[in-house]
Amino acid sequence: MKELEDRIRRDGTVKPGNVLKVDAFLNHQCDVALFDRMGAEWAELFAGRQVDKILTIEASGIGIACCAARHFGNAPVVFAKKTRSINLDGEQYVTRIYSFTKQREFPVIVAKRFLSAGEHVLLIDDFLANGKAMHGLIEICDKAGAVIEGIGIAVEKGFQCGGKELREAGYDVESLAIVNSMDASAGTIEFA
Ligand code: 5GP
Repeated sequence: MKELEDRIRRDGTVKPGNVLKVDAFLNHQCDVALFDRMGAEWAELFAGRQVDKILTIEASGIGIACCAARHFGNAPVVFAKKTRSINLDGEQYVTRIYSFTKQREFPVIVAKRFLSAGEHVLLIDDFLANGKAMHGLIEICDKAGAVIEGIGIAVEKGFQCGGKELREAGYDVESLAIVNSMDASAGTIEFA
C-alpha cells in the first residue's frame, strides 16, 4: 500500500535493535483516515473470505482492527488482553508470548464467550516481526476451534522470520507494507 509506505518514509524512524517507530500515526497518535483506508485495502485483499470476527491483540492492534471491521460488515472485534483484571471473568483461553518490543513474556487472554468453535476469524495486528504475537492468537483460535481465514498486518519486517514461517504454514498473510531492510544510523527504510 503506497500510502502507508510513503507515510512510514515521512514519519517513521528507525531505532537500534530493528525497531521501526511509527508512533506519529499508528502506535501512539492514530491517523484514523489512514486506518480506514488500510481497512478498505484488507477488505479487497480478503474479498470472498468469510469473516465473522476480527481478532487482534492490545494495544496497537485495536484501532486498526476496529477501522477494518467497518469494511467487513461491522464484524465484531475481539482484542486479546495482556493483563489479568477483575473485569476479565468467566472461562478464558490463555497462552503466553514473548514481546519483541517489551522484551519480556506476556499472557495472552481471550474470554471463551467471545470466540467460538466454527467462527471464521481474521487476525489483524500492527507489526509482524518474529511472529510471536500471531502464533499466540493462532493458538487461541485453535483452542477455541475457530477457523483462521487470514492474517492482515500493517507493517511486516520482511527481514525477520514471522511472515515466512506463517506463509509456509499455509496462512494467507497480507501485509500492507513490507520492510526489506532498514538502517538506524542512516535512517533509511527499503520496502519490498
Ligand atoms: P512479533 O510477535 O511478530 O515478534 O512482533 C510483533 C509485535 O511486536 C507487534 O504486536 C508489535 O506491537 C511489536 N513490534 C514488533 N516489531 C516492532 C517494530 O519494529 N515497531 C513497533 N512499533 N512495534 C513492533
